[in-house]
Amino acid sequence: MAKDYQKAVKKAERGERLALEDALALYEQDDLLLLASLARTVKERKSGRQVFFNVNRHINLTNICEACCPLCAFGRPADRPGAYAFDQKDVEAILRDAANTPGLSEIHMVSALHPDKPFVFYLDIVRTVKRILPQVRLKAFTPVEIVHFARLSGLSVKGVLQALKAAGLDSLPGGGAEILDDEVRRRICPNKATAGQWIEVITTAHKLGMPTNATMLYGHIETVEQRIRHLITLRSLQDETGGFQAFVGFPFHPENTGMSHLKRVSAWEDLKMIALARLVLDNIDHIKAFWMMLTLPVAQLALAFGVDDLDGTVAEEKIIHAAGAKTETGITKEALTGIIAETGYIPVERDTFYRPL
Ligand code: SF4
Repeated sequence: MAKDYQKAVKKAERGERLALEDALALYEQDDLLLLASLARTVKERKSGRQVFFNVNRHINLTNICEACCPLCAFGRPADRPGAYAFDQKDVEAILRDAANTPGLSEIHMVSALHPDKPFVFYLDIVRTVKRILPQVRLKAFTPVEIVHFARLSGLSVKGVLQALKAAGLDSLPGGGAEILDDEVRRRICPNKATAGQWIEVITTAHKLGMPTNATMLYGHIETVEQRIRHLITLRSLQDETGGFQAFVGFPFHPENTGMSHLKRVSAWEDLKMIALARLVLDNIDHIKAFWMMLTLPVAQLALAFGVDDLDGTVAEEKIIHAAGAKTETGITKEALTGIIAETGYIPVERDTFYRPL
């Protein structure tokens, strides 16, 4: 192992592509500060002293879901307490309220798989966003939702994406990747898109000119090797399409899920995975720390582990908080820039496409 580890460190120092065994050796050696230093070098090579954030607003249209994944605390059948579904009027009211947010540049919308809402409902929502907030970019619908829409409408994945793009959809958030291994998915989310379907949606979106995030949900039943294989799959997809803008790793929050016997991974593990992701994903420009998942203190520390994006102001989030996240549901722009500036990095407000504003 010592020999493999030394080899992996040398490859990382020279900026060479890491293989599975290199990443495993780095993980197992557990030298957190060396990982941080290697990852920070990559971050500074890619984005210098800049750390990005945006002014965004999250909207979760419904938590009524036909999939009922064991990993999820958000989705539920329509007759369970707390079930809700926004209609057009509700969404319009939220958008009019959001219009008062100074500098709002992005709406981020992900939802559960409602069994009855037709695809045309979602097309109308996209058009409504663009009508009320024409200057704002819309990042919406995970590949899991896109597969659901294809089934509801009878359209192909490509047909669904083309219709959404024509209605005004700008990009996809890339959630629902979890671990791209169908054996793992069979146990944590058996009723939603397979690994192959997630990949099909992502590659189709990229080919249609819609960028996405790459994501990973870690800290449940998967092995470390499966995490690293997942990262390598994302890297290969990026070689093929170049459409991933950023990678976001989500630690699993077990509270209120069907897997609540599991323990939330530690901040040590979060930081190690962030640094490893920065090192393995040599062809993805940005590594995002989703502060609501990590907590603000850990997200700030993550800036020393290769992160160059702290996501956004969010304003109202329901999915992670259903799983017991104790973080705020939103943050001011001033607080976010203060957190970045305190580390010596330069806060840069960006739009959906990482263009400085
Ligand atoms: S993870 Fe998504 S698909 Fe699964 S139950 Fe939750 S909302 Fe539904």
